[in-house]
Amino acid sequence: MTDELMDYDEVMARYDVVIGLEVHVELDTASKMWCGCTTAFGGDPNSHTCPVCLGLPGSLPVVNGEAVASAIRIGLSLGCEVAEWCRFARKNYFYPDMPKDYQLSQYDEPICFEGGVDVEVDGQSYHIPVERVHMEEDAGKNTHVGGLGRIQGADHSLVDYNRAGVPLMEIVTHPIWGTGGKAPQVARAYMSFLRDMMRALKVSQARMERGNMRCDANVSLMPKGSSELGTRTETKNVNSLRSVEAALTYEIRRQGAILGAGGRVRQETRMWNEAGYTTAGRSKEQAEDYRYFPEPDLVPVAPSREWVAELRASLPEEPGRRRARLQGEWGFTDLEMRDVNGTEGAIDLIEATVAAGATSGAARKWWCGELARRANEAEIPLEELAITAHQVAELQALVDGGTLTDKLARQVIDGVLAKEGTPGEVVEARGLAVVSDDGALGAAVDQVIAANPDVAQKIRDGKVQAAGALIGQVMKAMKGQADAAKVREIIMGKLS
Ligand code: ADP
Ligand code: MG
Ligand code: ZN
Repeated sequence: MTDELMDYDEVMARYDVVIGLEVHVELDTASKMWCGCTTAFGGDPNSHTCPVCLGLPGSLPVVNGEAVASAIRIGLSLGCEVAEWCRFARKNYFYPDMPKDYQLSQYDEPICFEGGVDVEVDGQSYHIPVERVHMEEDAGKNTHVGGLGRIQGADHSLVDYNRAGVPLMEIVTHPIWGTGGKAPQVARAYMSFLRDMMRALKVSQARMERGNMRCDANVSLMPKGSSELGTRTETKNVNSLRSVEAALTYEIRRQGAILGAGGRVRQETRMWNEAGYTTAGRSKEQAEDYRYFPEPDLVPVAPSREWVAELRASLPEEPGRRRARLQGEWGFTDLEMRDVNGTEGAIDLIEATVAAGATSGAARKWWCGELARRANEAEIPLEELAITAHQVAELQALVDGGTLTDKLARQVIDGVLAKEGTPGEVVEARGLAVVSDDGALGAAVDQVIAANPDVAQKIRDGKVQAAGALIGQVMKAMKGQADAAKVREIIMGKLS
């Protein structure tokens, strides 16, 4: 990486930032966009294919109605208009993972258009104007074998068409002005909003790390006081919230250095490197280069107003409103809620755990603490941990009932995650319950007193604080499984 970068604050002093976001979302429909093949992830290469998604001559596509419904629900959630009539278009280009040599997309007639949403950053609200939501299809997947795994220098390349034809939504914003130095954070907040929205709509898992949702992040600078848009760069396929923020920050600083030195920004696509910088991709083609034309093999889509009204009535509670409602119901402080919002997937799990009988505080403590840590370590999403909301509620009930301490509960989690059974079964099988049996505790206390005559004497002399040391030793001797309150009681009984 050899790019000159301008100090971020200096860029902000000299230039205004304009961003534009193109977000692709893979839909969770059962079948592909134009054929009956499954959209299931994985499977042997090219096992989820048919003549349509392989682009064989003479095959005819048919529009997936569920995908159209999803597109309309997404558009409505973004406050967009729904077209009375729209068509698909062929976007012509050659790429080995696109066997038809064109992508079926929408061009000047998107299904939804002109909406917008507000997102919040540091307590301030920013408007994101949405230009369009359109339907298209995903491409297959190339694997370049040999060399560095890139097409350049590879020995040969393999193509897997399982993903070809999976329904893809593209959501494009108008240029976003006036976010100042917050531009990268606003972009991140918008992506986070979209992710929550897709999940609430149940139209996509919107897992950025799996490529279900990815962002092309456009940005340009213009000298303060100017009203003419500068030349933008487009960083392609950024696939995490953190990277969206980082890639924009980097491009802003890189463009600042170029303009500051009197140079011109090249309009091009760029690639984000997880090491923290962008590199040049191809110089940007113009729409004319794609030779768009209306798709002759597909009928136009003309959603009736009754259907649109039905879809509107089916929309879930808006995620921001839901968060605010749950924060109130759960009695969380803003700080606690930020913890919940910052832990992906936690809000749904906490809701389910509360429904299963736990208090909101306990549910938050487990999901945003110990369990979030475990998920992080295993590098899996929180909801894929092998423990259910019901089991977490059961675990907490065991703590509340005195069967487990928090420390023992963490060992029970080990067992549940290792698929040894429910919390109750793990307590049983691993013998983890707190011991409150007087006989067993009394014997352990006697041993500890005998081994620490000086400490015992202090307690007899009235130095009650010294009991802590003995309690600690009893706990240790009993592997943390003693009931601490009971131990204290027994020690005091024996030494006073
Ligand atoms: P393409 O498909 O060629 O990338 P689009 O017209 O779809 O082009 O626009 C890409 C995105 O870039 C849109 O979100 C748009 O609002 C945004 N955009 C356009 N011009 C600028 C600019 N000068 N600076 C920042 N963003 C821009
Ligand atoms: Mg683009
Ligand atoms: Zn198919």
